[in-house]
Amino acid sequence: MTNIARQITAKLQELFKEQRKLGNVNLHEPRFSGNEAKYVDECIKTGWVSSVGSYVDRFEKDLAEFLGAKHAVAIVNGTAALHLCLVAAGVKAGDEVLIPAMTFIATANAVSYIGAVPHFVDVSEDSLGICPDSLAEYLDNIADIDGGICINKQTRRPIKAVIPMHCFGHPVDMDKLNKVAIKYGLTVIEDAAESLGSLYKNKAAGTLSCMAALSFNGNKIITTGGGGAIITNDAELAKRLKHLSTTARAANGYHFSHDAIGYNYRLPNINAALGCAQLETLPEYIIQKRKLAEIYKNAFAKIDGVQFIQEPSYAKSNYWLNAIRLEDGGHLDEVLQDTNNAGFITRPVWDLIPDLPVYAGNPSAGIENAKKLAASIINLPSSAFLVE
Ligand SMILES: *Cc1c(COP(=O)(O)O)cnc(C)c1O
Repeated sequence: MTNIARQITAKLQELFKEQRKLGNVNLHEPRFSGNEAKYVDECIKTGWVSSVGSYVDRFEKDLAEFLGAKHAVAIVNGTAALHLCLVAAGVKAGDEVLIPAMTFIATANAVSYIGAVPHFVDVSEDSLGICPDSLAEYLDNIADIDGGICINKQTRRPIKAVIPMHCFGHPVDMDKLNKVAIKYGLTVIEDAAESLGSLYKNKAAGTLSCMAALSFNGNKIITTGGGGAIITNDAELAKRLKHLSTTARAANGYHFSHDAIGYNYRLPNINAALGCAQLETLPEYIIQKRKLAEIYKNAFAKIDGVQFIQEPSYAKSNYWLNAIRLEDGGHLDEVLQDTNNAGFITRPVWDLIPDLPVYAGNPSAGIENAKKLAASIINLPSSAFLVE
């Protein structure tokens, strides 16, 4: 076992001695310390557990208010939220959509559900998300603008949208990214699944583009069991998203009528009830997570060859998942093995999407940074309650 693996494990043992006595220190666990049981119980007692109920409306209102956004539409999960954003943006089969090479598979799959083509671009070593500078340079080389539409010169397909993903909670440099998108006529959809509560220049992640998808899966900063939402400031778009997510049902007296091919993507009331309670505790979680990040930062400052991944200078991150980077990536497997054997659940970043057989033939920019990062990043236990 290398010195560096032993040092990292020893550091985790020192930080979480008490927590380790209770069992493994997991990567991320939910906590229900507020009104969760009370609100869910109310759904059960009143029978309002499913597709309608007051908690859905309340959750949408509370969420929009928390983010400083005009509208939130509750959706059954984050992947469905991304899919519906793309539908509403008018992305069609055969279009290309730019996404980071380093992201969760949902970002790519949502594009594929449309029949559109995920086109991979590189990430920044600073934010871990799409690098706007390399994106601008890349598009200058490979794309033409023809009648206001961005065309991939190699494939002749239209490039319609770009999905920046705020990785582990750290926001992409959105001012720069939006500038590139305007130049090339691209719709911007944020994949804000990991960044609820993060700020970019004092504005909430998820409010920095046309539409954003959030996730409330069990491993996210707050959870509704499974769930998601779409955030937008556009009232027409919000109405359309709600309509499409509720089977495009048209009000017609007693009749069930549907005026488009809609989706059954609404969030059940019982999940929204859980979400309302979790939102009440969210400000506290963010404080705890930022405290945990500070503890990690100080702890790893003294270990040579290990760099704690900090929020970009323009951002205030929710630090959903803490991460370190091994300067000599060669020890990645040993560190993972040693920490996990000791009961501290760590993991590497996702396999890069272009490396997955199902996406192997897709168009891609050079992804040197993504490759370097994927070979050297380790996520650390990040549950908010670890600092209690
Ligand atoms: C969690 C996540 C999603 C959506 O996940 P769901 O499980 O469908 O809610 C999408 N993108 C990223 C980057 C995620 O981390």
